[in-house]
Amino acid sequence: MTPVLIVLNAGSSSLKFQVFDMLDGAAPRLVWKGLYEGLGGSAHFLVKDTSGSVLDEMTWGSDDRFGHEQALMHLVSWLRQHQEGRELAAIGHRVVHGGEAFTRPVLVDEAVIQSLEALVPLAPLHQPHNLEPIRIVRRRLPGMPQVACFDTAFHQTQSEIASLFALPREMRERGVRRYGFHGLSYDYISSVLKDYDPRLAGGRVVVAHLGNGASLCALKDGVSIATTMGFSALDGLPMGTRCGAVDAGVVFFMLREMKLSPEEAERVLYTKSGLLGVSGISNDMRVLRSKAATNADAKRAIDLFVYRITREIGSLVAALGGLDGLVFTAGIGENDVATRAEVIAGLAWAGLTLDEAANRAGDPRISSGSGSTAWVIPTNEELVIARQTRSVLGGAQTKLAI
Ligand code: ADP
Repeated sequence: MTPVLIVLNAGSSSLKFQVFDMLDGAAPRLVWKGLYEGLGGSAHFLVKDTSGSVLDEMTWGSDDRFGHEQALMHLVSWLRQHQEGRELAAIGHRVVHGGEAFTRPVLVDEAVIQSLEALVPLAPLHQPHNLEPIRIVRRRLPGMPQVACFDTAFHQTQSEIASLFALPREMRERGVRRYGFHGLSYDYISSVLKDYDPRLAGGRVVVAHLGNGASLCALKDGVSIATTMGFSALDGLPMGTRCGAVDAGVVFFMLREMKLSPEEAERVLYTKSGLLGVSGISNDMRVLRSKAATNADAKRAIDLFVYRITREIGSLVAALGGLDGLVFTAGIGENDVATRAEVIAGLAWAGLTLDEAANRAGDPRISSGSGSTAWVIPTNEELVIARQTRSVLGGAQTKLAI
């Protein structure tokens, strides 16, 4: 039997999954990927093979009460029907916040779950959804090894100064500091830099993870020395629906003058701001690009997004003491030719020159000349979770007989 691993990435109404073969001595090998959407309402299941062909699809009605638990059990039984010589050996989870305690992936037990629950106030909109499948698996598949992999852990290499807010010391003692997120994505990019240009692996690189969530990370010798996200996944760049960095005084204004409750203010900052809030049209870059030529609101939202990215890259170049390479990744970074061109146009001072044809063609290297280089590298957070899960279980192999 070939042991397989499920990698789960759970959101409020979605469950994304990938299934990997874990053959001895070989890298984890993707077999299937898919997702459940609309959980709790009219749920939809889709699974594809590695060539992208849809293998199976299903829809449930809103009366079916098909939630995360039903999705997980459906996935396990779908696997059993299709596994052909494979056996489910473990589940790896994306968990957004590891706090100060979890600086590396961890085998989940009851004490770990309790520690992760204590971090819910630090990531109230993400952490509960990440923890729910962990609890479901413990209840429904007792004994199944589970590994939690954290978006914060990659940034634990940052210096104390890079992680501090200029707040009273007792707040730091309560865990109020910069953590940084998107670490699984940055871990992946860091691990493949040598395949694109060995000088980058040992150099000064800014990675722009531009998806619905967006952040930048400064890598020196492949490790994180600074990032734009901080205490929460709200800081730094404007995002699809999140505001990015705003003056903390704005929050007091929302509470005191606009009489919003903390929950209402939180909803505005997380779900009604960013590209959606500024444009009043959409959080989807494709929609905004299609309207920008004729719609000033769409154009303004994109211009602000690009301006903030360019400015924040300047800040990270200062932290790095120079720039050898810039990497674009995630939905917008990998696909939006115009965003890449506009960001690079604002970085001539850092030695970057756009290769327009390469950018349009989607080549990995999109810069020309002998200065700093610019790259497009597709991210793969699930593969990092698979690798981390395997390495944690490898350490616990005798105990778990995997
Ligand atoms: P998430 O943070 O949810 O993982 P993704 O990395 O999937 O997000 O990125 C989603 C973003 O990528 C959306 O804003 C979407 O508009 C954008 N995107 C996806 N494909 C394209 C494309 N071809 N051109 C421009 N933007 C794109």
